[in-house]
Amino acid sequence: MLSTLRGQLSRDKQCRKRRHTDIGEAPLFLAKRRKYIKLNHMKQSQLFTKTTKDAPKDEVSVNAQLLIRAGFIDKEMAGVYTLLPLGLRTLNKIENIIREEINAIGGQELFMPSLQPKENWLKTGRWDSMDDLYKVKDASGREMALGPTHEEVVVPLMQRFINSYKDLPFAVYQFQNKFRMELRAKSGILRGREFMMKDLYSFHLDEEDLDAYYEKSKVAYFKIFERAGLKDVTHLAFASGGTFSKYSHEFQAITPAGEDTIYVCSKCGLAINKEIKNEITECPECKNTNFIEEKAIEVGNIFKLMNKYTKPFNLTVRDDKGATKEIVMGCYGIGLGRLMGAIVEVHHDAKGMLWPEAVAPFKIHILSLNQNDRAEVIYDALAKKGIEVLFDDRDMNPGGKFADADLIGLPYQLIVSEKNLKDNQVEVKNRKTGAVEYISLDSSEIVKYFRNK
Ligand code: ATP
Ligand code: MG
Repeated sequence: MLSTLRGQLSRDKQCRKRRHTDIGEAPLFLAKRRKYIKLNHMKQSQLFTKTTKDAPKDEVSVNAQLLIRAGFIDKEMAGVYTLLPLGLRTLNKIENIIREEINAIGGQELFMPSLQPKENWLKTGRWDSMDDLYKVKDASGREMALGPTHEEVVVPLMQRFINSYKDLPFAVYQFQNKFRMELRAKSGILRGREFMMKDLYSFHLDEEDLDAYYEKSKVAYFKIFERAGLKDVTHLAFASGGTFSKYSHEFQAITPAGEDTIYVCSKCGLAINKEIKNEITECPECKNTNFIEEKAIEVGNIFKLMNKYTKPFNLTVRDDKGATKEIVMGCYGIGLGRLMGAIVEVHHDAKGMLWPEAVAPFKIHILSLNQNDRAEVIYDALAKKGIEVLFDDRDMNPGGKFADADLIGLPYQLIVSEKNLKDNQVEVKNRKTGAVEYISLDSSEIVKYFRNK
């Protein structure tokens, strides 16, 4: 039976194969599913976005100017942006880095709604106290909140799942659009009114357990910022803990575009946010008293919420002695768009962006200077091996191609020109350092070169 089935299957396969050869290329709907998920390559002539010389006049931030000009994002209105294909690829890479590191500390991914019941917000008191809350009303007059954060959803949710102390600890997270009525929306995607956030919430039986997880989250956060190319500029900073704990911790990336002022310990690099600087005179880590003032942007924030939200929703468990205990919580945020904007603020030059490889939309930009046939062979070879490549096959002058490639800022430019071909080679330019190497025209050599990069 099985073997007949197998025979049938292989006949089907052959049949399909023949059909493909008949019409040249496999129809898209028959292509392997994998290809939909992971498209590693693209021809620039197919990309519907175009680069522009000028950004909108009201856009003052470097990140938005470069991202708009290069076709990564489009401005819908102040603080609200569309992610275009190149921008979405970058954001997806950032998202995956975060997902891997949060999974590694046991986070379980879920997805909560943006529309949230008013009653929950009344319960925590934030319906009236949060001035950046968007409130919406439906035709029946029912009011709802457009989620700026998700404690008001996640805590009642857990009421339905936590029964015993044995259910603890655990942590859940999501990637979700948040809505905040930001008054100052002048920093491009650093401060959106609608923006993507990774928010993680952890639930514990006691403070000691929360502390242990909180320390783990710091390590995960540093790994994330390192992988995103911000290791050298990102500092852990003490910040106000609100009414429920003494301090919270921010991850502050130093850039002139930053809206915060931090004081960085000259010895160990720990920082203190200006808002609490008068409370702290010496470095909590190494007792040094010498600090350097810097402008920085908060790319992440971790909080010990303690019982701030579990109390209003009465989220309790019985401990091992049968006593009722309030669950304690931590929350941990990272703004994905803000992180993407911060990367641009830190990594750019006069000509455009300089993407760190791990978050670049593609690794290689092939620039064909009227040598599309030869360039296509290289493009196919790289694409086949899963190396991410954008191929500028457009019919335009070399100057324009170089300017666009510098603006888009992929890590490597592979230049296929008449002169290079005469010497049986291609030119590989490192966008960031400007270093140029010539390598053999042989496709397998080119693949090998980039595999080892
Ligand atoms: P800020 O002090 O900059 O307004 P926040 O303290 O209000 O930020 P949190 O509520 O701690 O921010 O949000 C967690 C993370 O979400 C922040 O660390 C930041 O990376 C990101 N974030 C917050 N507000 C915005 C925004 N308006 N646009 C983009 N990202 C944001
Ligand atoms: Mg904050």
